[in-house]
Amino acid sequence: MTYLDHAATTGVHPQVAAAYLQELDRLGNPSSMHGPGRRSRQVVEEARESIAADLGAHPTEVIFTSGGTEADNLAVLGTWFGRPDSQVVAISAVEHHAVLEAAHALGATHGAQVVEVAVDESGVVQPSALEPHLSRVTQVAVMWANNESGALQPILEVVELAAAHGIPVHSDAVQAVGRIPIDFAASGLTSLALSGHKLGAPVGLGALLAKRDAVIAPVLHGGGQERGVRSGTLNSAGAHALALAIRLAVAGQGAEAVRLAGLRDQLQDGIVASVPDVQVRSAAVDRLPGHLLLTIAGTDADAVLFGLDAAGIAASSGSACTAGVTQPSHVLVAMGEDARVARSALRLTLGRTSAIADVDHVLAVLPGVVQRARAAARVGVS
Ligand code: PLP
Repeated sequence: MTYLDHAATTGVHPQVAAAYLQELDRLGNPSSMHGPGRRSRQVVEEARESIAADLGAHPTEVIFTSGGTEADNLAVLGTWFGRPDSQVVAISAVEHHAVLEAAHALGATHGAQVVEVAVDESGVVQPSALEPHLSRVTQVAVMWANNESGALQPILEVVELAAAHGIPVHSDAVQAVGRIPIDFAASGLTSLALSGHKLGAPVGLGALLAKRDAVIAPVLHGGGQERGVRSGTLNSAGAHALALAIRLAVAGQGAEAVRLAGLRDQLQDGIVASVPDVQVRSAAVDRLPGHLLLTIAGTDADAVLFGLDAAGIAASSGSACTAGVTQPSHVLVAMGEDARVARSALRLTLGRTSAIADVDHVLAVLPGVVQRARAAARVGVS
């Protein structure tokens, strides 16, 4: 099987799986005072220190969550409820639904005005489009790297603009952590979301990095764990697994980025040479090393994905979280494409297990799959 959907989820790293299984044997609630509890707490605190060291944060800035969606929701909702003057939420037009829907939920239920900041045709946020709103914006969220196009966003510029107005900035770095260098302190961000299953840890683990002076109200109420911001019994085995996955990803990041970008470029060049009327998206800007987003004129993404799947190739039309619902990608629409083009997206994402055989497999299969998908689309139209 050729798996080219590492942005949706990537496999658990064997070392992480082994360490996780071993930790699962441990008994003791990390909040308990007895010996087993204290030892579980130590596992959590060591994981916290390890994550902080790898991502340029202070250990007290690491808040464990159940994943990226929860971390994004905690940042967006928690910042809104934490500030008495909350009014306008500015987000980029290409945010993941975890941020997009959280912001719009505030609009629907709490009267928040949501400003969606425009991106250019490569899917890169335009700080100049944010600037005019800053005098009334009370919080900003711009992702570090887009999950569909892989395009990196101008986080430092956004932070600088917002800082001049004292506005907190959150960044969804779920796709970025482990794939490109991340330094939370140097970024100047107020908060940053990450997710374990995108970088070799099991699903259901994540964290929000939040500055010590960040004003974030809790979304989950209970025992007051995690600075009182995220109640719930701490998952010591999960924290251990998450920390190890981050350690391995960050340690190997530079070499892996070179390897993946090399494979991705071979895949990209081969597809462009063998499939007519394909457009590579975000190729002109900095993007994640393993990301390749294409639009294939005259096809419907579902037909291409179905054809690839039948040949043993797992790919995606964009965000896995919206796959299954045939809607055009909001990312491509924000990049200026009409719904028809946005429905023809094919996302191929490489990761730890990707090899040249995967590239060869796609190049052998895709031209025929596209030909059949185009023929089917023509029959559908007539
Ligand atoms: N943010 C981005 C950019 C993502 O790609 C995803 C997952 O696809 C999420 C947030 C949600 O993360 P999780 O699956 O851990 O809830």
